[in-house]
Amino acid sequence: MIFVIAEHKDNKLKPITTELLVFAQRVGRDFNQPITAVVLGSHTDSLANELKAKKIDRVITAENEAFETYLPDPYVETLKAIVEKEKPFLVLIGHTTQGMDFAPLLAVALRKPLIAGCVEYEKEGDRLVLTRQIFNAKMNMKTMLRGDPPYFATASPGAFPADDVESGGNAEVVRFPVNLGGPSRRKIVERVEAPKGKADLSSAPIIVSGGRGLKEKQNFNVIFELAEAIGGSVGASRPVVDAEWLPREYQIGSSGQTVSPKLYFAIGISGAIQHLVGMQTSRCIVAINKDPEAPIFKVAHYGIVDDLFKVVPALTKIFKDLNRA
Ligand SMILES: Cc1cc2nc3c(=O)[nH]c(=O)nc-3n(C[C@H](O)[C@H](O)[C@H](O)COP(=O)(O)OP(=O)(O)OC[C@H]3O[C@@H](n4cnc5c(N)ncnc54)[C@H](O)[C@@H]3O)c2cc1C
Repeated sequence: MIFVIAEHKDNKLKPITTELLVFAQRVGRDFNQPITAVVLGSHTDSLANELKAKKIDRVITAENEAFETYLPDPYVETLKAIVEKEKPFLVLIGHTTQGMDFAPLLAVALRKPLIAGCVEYEKEGDRLVLTRQIFNAKMNMKTMLRGDPPYFATASPGAFPADDVESGGNAEVVRFPVNLGGPSRRKIVERVEAPKGKADLSSAPIIVSGGRGLKEKQNFNVIFELAEAIGGSVGASRPVVDAEWLPREYQIGSSGQTVSPKLYFAIGISGAIQHLVGMQTSRCIVAINKDPEAPIFKVAHYGIVDDLFKVVPALTKIFKDLNRA
């Protein structure tokens, strides 16, 4: 059995949950393992309904008011009890702020290793080999899992395209009784929401990203205008953020966000590996760069070799005209 630990917010599954389901569906097929989604929350009915519509076998829900706001202690205590009872083969968790917080604690509580930040897997004989990126994504490291299951792994956001999820299941929903030993050792002092809107890139279907080729802050208007015309969100390479043209949450890459939209525009971005690892799983990549040798063209599906200040306003006009038509 493969466990997918569902991540959710405001009673909705987060995109990483669907990506984990894709990962689980692939491994499940190769290793002939059923899939169980596990959801912890204070009200789990609508989350369970969302999950059971996917092609999986079971949904385990654990309800308690301690899960109203995420805290690692009740999470780990409950997940440990579920894993000990169900004995899954593999436990998949998102390599997100929340997942990175509780996954190591859970693995340690069960005295098992954790393979963090997986982007791919292979089947070698009857063994599972997980691939993770190391040295700032310059190298891939493959880890063959040995010893007795359960194996614990976190998956990097964007590595398994959510669009590939198979639906059409009718999973059984099972409730797991929650017995918490005592109050959490931690408490939430204050919740500070990240600024919403244009920089909310994790689930954006279209992203228009600009790089140092824009030359100065004011020129970034051409990126915002194209994004608006095409209904996309704005992203950026690191030099743009370092130069304070845009805040940190716009940055895409190894030290920024990992994204996997349907359409990604890389404009005036050379395509350094640290940028590529954050966007190369995008469905369709369009690069605009005046240098035909720029490495971005190696991952681009469509490339325009020209001055961005000529191309981008022309594209914006085309999309605006299409919107009006
Ligand atoms: C530890 C570490 C972490 C890092 N993390 C990240 C990260 O998360 N994200 C990230 O993006 N980078 C990251 N970097 C930086 C990364 O190595 C590159 O320096 C960076 O991605 C380059 O950004 P760029 O492509 O915008 O700029 P450049 O490499 O300077 O490329 C600018 C491009 O614009 C083109 N251009 C210029 N003028 C025009 C024009 N008029 N029309 C069309 N094209 C034009 C040029 O041909 C060039 O290809 C990291 C580096 C390190 C060491």
